[in-house]
Amino acid sequence: MPITPPGSTIGIVGGGQLGRMLSRAASRMGYKTHIYTPEKDSPASHVATATTIGAYQDTNALRAFAQSVDVITFEFENIPAETLEMLDAITVVRPKPSVLFTTRHRLREKEFIRAQAIATAPFASVKSEAELVDAVKKIGTPSVLKTCEMGYDGKGQVVIKAPADAAKAWATLGKTECILEGFIDFSAEASIIVARSTHGEARCYPLVQNIHRDHILYKTIAPAPFINEHQDAAVKIAKTLAEALDVVGLLAVELFVTKDGLLVNELAPRPHNSGHWSMEGAPTAQFEQHIRAICGWALGDTTAHRPCEMINLLGDEWKQWEEYAKNPEAHVHLYGKTESRAGRKMGHVTMVKR
Ligand code: AMP
Repeated sequence: MPITPPGSTIGIVGGGQLGRMLSRAASRMGYKTHIYTPEKDSPASHVATATTIGAYQDTNALRAFAQSVDVITFEFENIPAETLEMLDAITVVRPKPSVLFTTRHRLREKEFIRAQAIATAPFASVKSEAELVDAVKKIGTPSVLKTCEMGYDGKGQVVIKAPADAAKAWATLGKTECILEGFIDFSAEASIIVARSTHGEARCYPLVQNIHRDHILYKTIAPAPFINEHQDAAVKIAKTLAEALDVVGLLAVELFVTKDGLLVNELAPRPHNSGHWSMEGAPTAQFEQHIRAICGWALGDTTAHRPCEMINLLGDEWKQWEEYAKNPEAHVHLYGKTESRAGRKMGHVTMVKR
């Protein structure tokens, strides 16, 4: 596969902070970037070479976007499948649309993981209230009901503590296609990011520990304190999944650490919040690695050269920049969002440890 040469334009679908940080990495490597997003004044548009503001159904705008770029990638999951298929027919999309088809749908994703003989929480498909009642009998309680699509940061999921909660849970999630999962008694949450290039080379970052508040990532500790026990198993899982999906780009694998080993919770075929530490903590930041992978460069070194803690600045916490500004070990990243809502990711700060 030939290298996409610097001077080319990388199209990025989605205009959030991941698109912004991808654009910066691409620009440093000599690429131009073109963002496609429905959002006005998006974080990525502030740093990209060009932006198209358009709906994901606007075929004329999508066609013009695809014709103006040399390779296309995306920074979030909830892009309609037809949109990606249409773009891919004009200019190659990396990772390919079938990857997103699997990972954006929780049931397809878990079935795929299970088919690779990799452990997940026990799960069952739920398409009606009657199926939910059966699934609760099979999986037991406590369990977690999740919508198959459009769920993130704990949205679209509810815990079922007793069989009698089933009807209410089904109504709360809008009587839509769901997956019921056994509630895992984990000792920690973790993630590992693997990059896989157009040449099939794969390279993993160190395993990190993730601490959530209200289902939203609050802190990442890199490397994870339990890296020695679980890194080898995590690498095997990540490489197996990346290969089986035929991913080109990054694949983030979210994991539960249990007394019986690692279970996969979910996958994201893109840069991931739990990889932001790599911007200061590793020779190759995850954003550069994604660009390297999709443009056919050799993958960069992923070793953590210094331990880090990455803390998300959610909602009004972005105002803490003033305190962090006094700390030479704190690296503040703000995403240029003007409207701060509770739980919204406004920025992050990475503390590099000595
Ligand atoms: P998700 O949207 O699937 O990443 O879930 C968000 C968070 O909910 C996870 O990071 C866990 O803290 C919790 N969670 C999700 N699924 C389960 C499960 N099967 N058992 C226990 N906790 C879960």
